[in-house]
Amino acid sequence: MRKTVDILGIPVDAVTMKEAVEIVGRFIEEGGTHAIYTPNAEIIMQAQRDPELKEILKRADMLTADGAGVVLASRMLGNELPEKVSGVDLVQEVFRAYSKNGLRCFLFGAKPGVAEEAAVNIIKDHPGIVIAGCRNGYFSDEENDEIIDEINRTSPDILLVALGAPKQEKWICSNLERLNAKVCIGVGGTLDILSGRVQLAPEFFRKNGLEWLYRLCQQPRRAKRMLDLPRFILRVWRVKLNAGKTSLSKGKRQ
Ligand code: UDP
Repeated sequence: MRKTVDILGIPVDAVTMKEAVEIVGRFIEEGGTHAIYTPNAEIIMQAQRDPELKEILKRADMLTADGAGVVLASRMLGNELPEKVSGVDLVQEVFRAYSKNGLRCFLFGAKPGVAEEAAVNIIKDHPGIVIAGCRNGYFSDEENDEIIDEINRTSPDILLVALGAPKQEKWICSNLERLNAKVCIGVGGTLDILSGRVQLAPEFFRKNGLEWLYRLCQQPRRAKRMLDLPRFILRVWRVKLNAGKTSLSKGKRQ
């Protein structure tokens, strides 16, 4: 049975990286299609304003905590998530764990050429991985059927969808039933990182929950979106306060 932690109405799976990788392996063995998303504080805040996104996240087969903010929130709420399981790290661990099984992976998203560059690096680092196909993430509604056919012809074990949030979550959810991919993961900027075009935050920032600061310096245009981070913590704090009040008044009544 799934053990989840409720973060502002989003049931994030309480899994370690090792467990998340095992779950991906199980989904691949089971067959069928599965949706995995890796919400961070920004996405959880977007979901507060967008009921469709909230519903999509709630219907996922696995949601992992992408970011120190989500783990901090779980700690504040007294139900701590074991660790951060970000999209980019999860993908690399899955490659490491299953490359010798000839894992078939389709890379969908990012600017033209990025997925192909990522594919070269993936094969170099994990020679057993089969890159079943690549497709950039800029397309019109009319091209959607053609993209799905292209993916389905390759029957991938894993489909990485890198369209940014919430576009990738909405795309996966609305096409899941038509897709012939065992596991679809919304991975944001992961292909940019795997291609080497964007650098992952240095170890110091990653270890100390400061990836947001590194990202802000690299991409200052994200500043407005990042205001959601303090809003997120404030909102979690309010939930914690209200929960405290409720249990206090229950205690008095007894
Ligand atoms: N992207 C895309 N199609 C779009 C919009 C964005 O393929 O219509 C890609 C973009 O090129 C980038 C990724 O989606 O590779 C978004 O990365 P970001 O780090 O902004 O992810 P987020 O934080 O939004 O999840």
